[in-house]
Amino acid sequence: MRDERLLSTSVLVIGTGGAGLRASIELAERGIQVLAVGKRRKHDAHTTLAAGGINAALGTMDPDDSWQQHAADTLRESYFLADPAIVEVVARNAARGIDDLERWGMPFAREADGRISQRFFGAHRYRRTAYAGDYTGLEIQRTLLRRARELEVPIVDSIYITRLLVDEGRIFGAYGFDIVDGTPVLIHADAVILAAGGHTRIWRNTSSRRDENTGDSFRLAALAGARIRDAELVQFHPSGILEPADAAGTLVSEAARGEGGILRNALGERFMERYDPERMELSTRDRVALASYTEIAEGRGTENGGVLLDVSHLPRETIFEKLPRVYRTLIDLQMLDITAQPIEVAPTAHYSMGGVWVRADDHGTGVDGLYAIGEASSGLHGANRLGGNSLIELLVYGRITGEEAAAYATGLTSIRRSPEAVAEARAEVAKLLGDRGTETPRMLQRQVRNVMTEHAGVVRSEEGLRAGLTKLTELEERATHLGVHPDIAGFDDLAHAFDLYGSLLAARATLECALERRETRGAHNRSDFPEQDDALRGSFVWSPTTGVTFEPVAEAPESFRDLAYADIDTAVAGKLVE
Ligand SMILES: Cc1cc2nc3c(=O)[nH]c(=O)nc-3n(C[C@H](O)[C@H](O)[C@H](O)COP(=O)(O)OP(=O)(O)OC[C@H]3O[C@@H](n4cnc5c(N)ncnc54)[C@H](O)[C@@H]3O)c2cc1C
Repeated sequence: MRDERLLSTSVLVIGTGGAGLRASIELAERGIQVLAVGKRRKHDAHTTLAAGGINAALGTMDPDDSWQQHAADTLRESYFLADPAIVEVVARNAARGIDDLERWGMPFAREADGRISQRFFGAHRYRRTAYAGDYTGLEIQRTLLRRARELEVPIVDSIYITRLLVDEGRIFGAYGFDIVDGTPVLIHADAVILAAGGHTRIWRNTSSRRDENTGDSFRLAALAGARIRDAELVQFHPSGILEPADAAGTLVSEAARGEGGILRNALGERFMERYDPERMELSTRDRVALASYTEIAEGRGTENGGVLLDVSHLPRETIFEKLPRVYRTLIDLQMLDITAQPIEVAPTAHYSMGGVWVRADDHGTGVDGLYAIGEASSGLHGANRLGGNSLIELLVYGRITGEEAAAYATGLTSIRRSPEAVAEARAEVAKLLGDRGTETPRMLQRQVRNVMTEHAGVVRSEEGLRAGLTKLTELEERATHLGVHPDIAGFDDLAHAFDLYGSLLAARATLECALERRETRGAHNRSDFPEQDDALRGSFVWSPTTGVTFEPVAEAPESFRDLAYADIDTAVAGKLVE
């Protein structure tokens, strides 16, 4: 093993997606020393996949819009499980997030007179979603990277963080290794901002790519003494493709249904007639996912376990004009011509609404000096995410947390470090490299994904979740005998071992919380508890030491309470994008 490298900074940011970059920029603008690290190339963080847009009540198209209405829509869509204080912070500060991006050169789509264009996106009352073609996430990532470069923010996108370092409840850095050459890395820091994404890669069909969203944030935070909230609340997108295996879960935009696409089961039945006869394929994301899931589970799916989404009856020009990305993706990945043939799709794990428990004012985690933001955090989305809200959350809390971490780090009057914590982290990496176990990390990872797909998919039950936990316990035992084999190409295999550790912990948190949520609410469907239960209006909070506890959610403040409970038009025609 190579000699350990020691790095030192005032604030360490883990993650170079939109959330991590926004926080890094804030720190650098305040003159605070910052180091941002990531485990995949910074130009290709998960954020680049976001297509549809980013929300703020700018009122450029609908002047009646307001931050209060944005907050109300968010809370209602969350099935009243979101933390109203977090909702308020995001809605109130959203316009400022857009201003920042604009100032740094984000190429937003605009109206002829120069106003930023805004469109509908899901259950918003008004047109509130700003966008840049269907490459909004990519443009945000580019804009933030450009600004970070101007500020000379050091970014190392080949460091895998394996542990946060804590001494008596206070953070003092992190431990990891360089994925390219395996060099162990000890990083001393006064504060740490965790922006390492969610856990949707622990399902077999997922819109995440291979080495992202493997639950790293959950594990890093939980082992440092923080807690995980709402792990069971995961948004499933109705249409991910099934083949080829390494691209399973790649999304077919909801715009395909929006433009007139028809869903059929293997018997040729247009099954949405049974689930939402009025809105049919234009029903909401959670309902369409549930309908497809039910068809597949009840044996009316295709041989591969999917349903068929057909746009071939649409004029070819409509497909080329309105669905060009879908057309190209299917040609590229399956050599399938969607103007002539249906697409085989299935529900796909898409977004972690749960994550690290955080305070509303600063996204502190309860561990001194440790903050969590972006998809790694929780509290904004409750049981269902309003489309376009995750990107704005990155901007809003990236800025706020940068400011808070700066104040915390500059206010520290002493530094404490624990040699034992460093030794433990060091030993964990060394042991994995030294052991010659027989279990292959990637194979076990696949089995975790099978367990979660079979036992904690769109519909759950007590029996299924318990069976899942039994299987998970076996996998946890097998994971103590890993064989890791770095080779001339790099230390990816070591990274896969830690991906597996993250996935195992995230899977346990999810299964245990899903078991406790004995109701059906938003994205969480329990076949044995099909009704919503008002007594469960709150969060299940998990930690490896305390297990699951329940935290009731606060009532919405007066400023947007009435708007949140007001009747609304639930039609989504013209509002389906990604
Ligand atoms: C297809 C698709 C479309 C979407 N469309 C929209 C949309 O239109 N609007 C919207 O609001 N949201 C959308 N989303 C969701 C949104 O893109 C994400 O929630 C958001 O980009 C997450 O950003 P993040 O910065 O929190 O995390 P990420 O962008 O996932 O970044 C995580 C970072 O953490 C690093 N990391 C992880 N683990 C480690 C570790 N152990 N050590 C070191 N580094 C680590 C990674 O390398 C990466 O840099 C979409 C998502 C998908 C998949």
